[in-house]
Amino acid sequence: MYVCQLSFNCAVDIEISEAQTVISALLDEYRYNGQIIGREFPVILVDDHFDVIFVCPEQDSVAVKYNTDNVTGAFEAIAKCGLALPQFKVLGLESQSDFADLCKVPSALVLYSTFVQSCSPVRCMDHFLPIPLYKLPESIRYDLIKWQESQAACDQLQMNELAEIEPFVVEQLSQPDSELMQNGLDICQQISDELKVPVYRYLYRVGGESLALEQQRLCPGCSEPWALAESLHQLFDFKCDSCLLLSNISWDWQ
Ligand SMILES: [Zn+2]
Ligand SMILES: [Zn+2]
Repeated sequence: MYVCQLSFNCAVDIEISEAQTVISALLDEYRYNGQIIGREFPVILVDDHFDVIFVCPEQDSVAVKYNTDNVTGAFEAIAKCGLALPQFKVLGLESQSDFADLCKVPSALVLYSTFVQSCSPVRCMDHFLPIPLYKLPESIRYDLIKWQESQAACDQLQMNELAEIEPFVVEQLSQPDSELMQNGLDICQQISDELKVPVYRYLYRVGGESLALEQQRLCPGCSEPWALAESLHQLFDFKCDSCLLLSNISWDWQ
């Protein structure tokens, strides 16, 4: 991913708060379209202009060709309020994150995220690299962001071992028919219908009684064996091609 900057010059005298409001609205629309990543974006007032710093999945993520009508609308509001069209600059590579997937047509996709992940929750099955939201069907981009927020919240609570709530959030993350996973299924089916590729869901797994029992675990969808001979991307030990599910050997037994 890339750290980028947009600089907005004030074409006329404008209220700082007004400028901040229209810039924030643009950042929201960019975020819901996957063109920028994360939740917090520094907006710095320097003399007569504003600099906004953010992370993009690709160098050309904020290119006009990826803009939705909502992004275009946010730009119109910016012009109306007296800010000039922004200057764009790539500041450098964000070294801690994954690069976007380069496949033209991935053979399969997987819905996967964690509490620390801010890049797209849809990954190429072959390379396990994230696919920017603006390259996925527009109808599910906002829903994917909301799904990822809910997934991250559940994952964060169980990582922090909040004892009273942990069983509930673990169920959301690991049961194929939990509300979170059902929402994920709706999104996966829409992506699959439009892109004509299978979209798998990842089921988190903790607990279990022993490594031996874990290895014999059956698919929770169809109760058939689903263990892989070799783990996939050093993460998935189970895969069911009928139910489009992936999972791991319990983190307690690895
Ligand atoms: Zn790929
Ligand atoms: Zn199955």
